[in-house]
Amino acid sequence: MPFSLLPWRIADELPDLEPAWLKEQGIQLLMLDFDNTIVPYTTNVPTQRMDAWLQMMKRSEIQICVVSNSKRERVRFFCEKFGIPCITHAKKPFSRGIRACLEKFGVPRENSALVGDQIYTDTLGANCAGVRSVLVKAINNHNIWLKLRHIAELPFILIARKRRMKNEKY
Ligand SMILES: [Mg+2]
Repeated sequence: MPFSLLPWRIADELPDLEPAWLKEQGIQLLMLDFDNTIVPYTTNVPTQRMDAWLQMMKRSEIQICVVSNSKRERVRFFCEKFGIPCITHAKKPFSRGIRACLEKFGVPRENSALVGDQIYTDTLGANCAGVRSVLVKAINNHNIWLKLRHIAELPFILIARKRRMKNEKY
């Protein structure tokens, strides 16, 4: 599988991804990173917009599953509360958790995408697993390490933005 740090698409935030567009792209399974993609590290309460998007996705034809590296109980609690399947300890950028998700849903990797805020874990992990990668902005890089990591990601974000066709939505 390709080792690449370039995301397939870039969106501002998760709720920008419309089910109709995802369906057009052939996506049947959308894996979601948790921390800083659905909620920031500092809260378990999603914004109203995020909440509405999650509910809409649950009603759509596209299956969603949280695939998180986190070992914290808060991910499981959140997913149980919102009725979203989840895989924790995913060890992205390694493929184990992503592969487990593909097997769980029986969806080919070509018809799957992973959305996350980190290039070195989410984007790389998705690309290496042959799953399409969507990069979103981190909701809140609340400490210096997260800010520094974002700076290290910038070259790849700029390349991916430049590569994007003018008529493309994301
Ligand atoms: Mg994250």
